[in-house]
Amino acid sequence: MPPLRYCPECGAALQPHVVAGETRNHSYCSRCQAPRYDHPMVVVTCFVANGNRLLWVQRDLEPKRGAWAIPGGYLEAGETLAQGAARELHEEAGIALPAEQLQLYMTGSITFINQVYVAFRATVDSDYYLAGVESQDCAFFSREQCPWQDVAYPEVNETIVQAYDDLDSGSFDVWQAEMTEGRYDFLPVSQFRC
Ligand SMILES: [Zn+2]
Repeated sequence: MPPLRYCPECGAALQPHVVAGETRNHSYCSRCQAPRYDHPMVVVTCFVANGNRLLWVQRDLEPKRGAWAIPGGYLEAGETLAQGAARELHEEAGIALPAEQLQLYMTGSITFINQVYVAFRATVDSDYYLAGVESQDCAFFSREQCPWQDVAYPEVNETIVQAYDDLDSGSFDVWQAEMTEGRYDFLPVSQFRC
């Protein structure tokens, strides 16, 4: 990730932050006389299953407008992880589930886009949805029905295939994914080795 270049408070050009003679991995605004951080954003998602089908939303926002994705978005201040995932699900697909019904499913880091993501899972027993203002459409797709040619983030297809596998087997682990430039580890937490 390129470092933050301008101060989000005053707009001045930032310099590398030097602490005790060492250049740190964040920037410094000499006008505000304050460090300026560029910490990873947290993305929360929810895999919602009805039988062996998963809920997808068709994005109506750039980037990837018109492509399909698992519902999710950025965690907001003041929310727990599950609350954020439940809010995104409601905003994008009109499905209201209490945060307590979401079960932790996957965690991951994608260092080259400076994101951390946390996925939950939940089950529903109807195909009800109501596409929100950020969605063109929603649908429950089986693995075979899924428009794989038209997914918004093929980089994480492996996690979605895993979710279909878990639905087929009825056995759910918690998964950890670590994506760095040129390397991708995706394993159940119990088997993860760094
Ligand atoms: Zn500043």
